[in-house]
Amino acid sequence: MKKPRRGIQKPHIEDHAIDSDTVFYYIAGYTCGGAPYGVTWEEFTAQEQRESKKNTVESRLAFVSGVFKEDGVIKFIIERMNQRNDIDPKINIRKAVNDVIRYDEKFITNMDIDMQDYSNDDEIDYIMKKTGFKYELIELILWQKYIDEMNQGRWEYDTEPCIKCGSYDLRLREIEDVDFVDKIRCEECGYEMVIGENGLESFCADKDWEDYLKGQLTFPFEAEVCDYQEGNYISQGDKLRVHGIEGDDDLYGIIVSVRKGRKKYVVSLVDLKPTNLNLQGQIAISEYKGWFGQR
Ligand SMILES: [Zn+2]
Repeated sequence: MKKPRRGIQKPHIEDHAIDSDTVFYYIAGYTCGGAPYGVTWEEFTAQEQRESKKNTVESRLAFVSGVFKEDGVIKFIIERMNQRNDIDPKINIRKAVNDVIRYDEKFITNMDIDMQDYSNDDEIDYIMKKTGFKYELIELILWQKYIDEMNQGRWEYDTEPCIKCGSYDLRLREIEDVDFVDKIRCEECGYEMVIGENGLESFCADKDWEDYLKGQLTFPFEAEVCDYQEGNYISQGDKLRVHGIEGDDDLYGIIVSVRKGRKKYVVSLVDLKPTNLNLQGQIAISEYKGWFGQR
């Protein structure tokens, strides 16, 4: 699972207002021999780290108590988990979400106090031990929590600027219907990107979609009708098997051939949500839908 990277907040230093050099952050004065004295960068950085550690722990504790008062993130996660059709119906989602989030906050608080680095696996292992839930369930619940944080714009991407407008105000965002992968959105111009082999690239730029999707999708795959369909044969919620791409229609976009039971039909790809398709295919469809919605 790829966990979004928290943006690094660099300390803001007003260097024009104070006298400093490469050794001293703040030069208080000079000895009679001409040597400067004051606060060195080393001392300043250590102080900054102590303060930032204190702030993180404090805000984390405030956040923990806030979660259980307002129930905001918990409510959001429960709703999202209830919308899924791949969760074991025997699982009490409300309890699972409450337990996982509570122990996750506890874990993160402990790590922050100790200033320790940790991996997603460390985090999930800890919650597994405390709750007895399966890895996959915990991973999914934590993913919904990241989505809530991404929706609030709390995950920054600060490695490269926007490839369209050059702004550095980039945030991680959810890719609709795809688990454990995120995209990058420019807050300045709204352009969406993903991290490619050579850095940022366009998320859903104009392209020959028929060709592209033929290369990305593995047929057949299963899908559910997610939009109301006019006509008598196919309706919302139907489970279909998608067999291939028939063509690209000016109005309806990419048309795919499907089977419902033993009968064959053609439907618009944008009306389908894949339910059993590999990650590469899911991303390609989400990309296409994003482009189709904006055209
Ligand atoms: Zn931009």
